[in-house]
Amino acid sequence: MIAKLVAFDTTSALSNLPLIDFVAEYLDGFGVTSEIIPDPTGKKANLVATFGNGEAEGGIILSGHSDVVPVKGQSWDTDPFEAIEKDGRLYGRGTADMKSFIGVILALVPEFLAKPLTTPVHLALSYDEEVGCLGAPSLAKSMANGSDAAPNIVIVGEPTSMRVVTAHKGIRAFRTTVTGTEAHSSAPDQGDNAIMHGAKLVGFLRGLARDLRDSGAQDPDFDPPFASINVGRIDGGTAVNIIPRTCVIHWEYRPLPGTDENEIIERFHVFTRDEWLPAIEAENETIKITTEPVAHVPAYQAEANSPATSLALDLAATNLTAKVSYGSEAGIFQGAGFSTVLCGPGDIADAHIPNESIAISQIDACNAFMGRLITRARAP
Ligand SMILES: [Zn+2]
Repeated sequence: MIAKLVAFDTTSALSNLPLIDFVAEYLDGFGVTSEIIPDPTGKKANLVATFGNGEAEGGIILSGHSDVVPVKGQSWDTDPFEAIEKDGRLYGRGTADMKSFIGVILALVPEFLAKPLTTPVHLALSYDEEVGCLGAPSLAKSMANGSDAAPNIVIVGEPTSMRVVTAHKGIRAFRTTVTGTEAHSSAPDQGDNAIMHGAKLVGFLRGLARDLRDSGAQDPDFDPPFASINVGRIDGGTAVNIIPRTCVIHWEYRPLPGTDENEIIERFHVFTRDEWLPAIEAENETIKITTEPVAHVPAYQAEANSPATSLALDLAATNLTAKVSYGSEAGIFQGAGFSTVLCGPGDIADAHIPNESIAISQIDACNAFMGRLITRARAP
């Protein structure tokens, strides 16, 4: 089943409908109806399916994203969309993040249906998680239907190495466009150099990152224990002998849960307004700046006495919890009112890289986790 899912190239830039249609058809073969929630373009969709009586209270949602990150530019030893087992590991794009979790659930559908479930279990598949959790809000909203029968626990199966993860940082991503005036490179007075001024913004972000490291909020359970900033890409300019008109800076930061998620973008705006622009104007240069939000993944922290955490600890047969620095849909589900936790097979260090892989032992552990979930969902 994992191999079948890996074979669908669901890179976020592409439609995920072939995979969604495959899952809906597979479930239909067991008499399970899928609810399809399309995106505004109709090219992507979320899928929700229920095992057991969906009208019963206290349902548990198993949440996975159907998309994967691109393989473009990565050097793979094998076809990334063909799952290959070798030396106790399964290789292929999405094996760790996060088609093994989904594959284990789908393979267990006959078990989920073999005996009546007292607690309904819902499968929730989203689109576009990897490009800013775009599908999860409509998915979470449709499942939080406000009735007594609404499910109340969400297990997000991101690769946590089957550890129970109870907090993660948020992600705020931005595109800052600096616009100046083109001119011949030999005539600096006639142009306004977007890249040279943009570089000062990058320098500011670098300094802010150090400031957060040295004197910002700290939580030793995270690695790193502070909010981080990354400038991941710069576009701009045409040639070495042309003063560049534009410089586009793609950057992000990852705030700790429980801190003011707007603090860093506000400090950036204050710097540009009070220091950067006045310095440019003092030199009689004309530079414009716009900063657009590109992605916002809320930080997540389990509530005290979280029912989702205690369920996941039981099912994973552990008493240890962890916090991680990568984002997920957990904050979105939590924001919609669900008690939410992360627990899934695979190591995040093996995700997003060439030759992505998962240890077979992780798939086995996920299988055992789901087996205990089925037993529990059958209990009166
Ligand atoms: Zn993921």
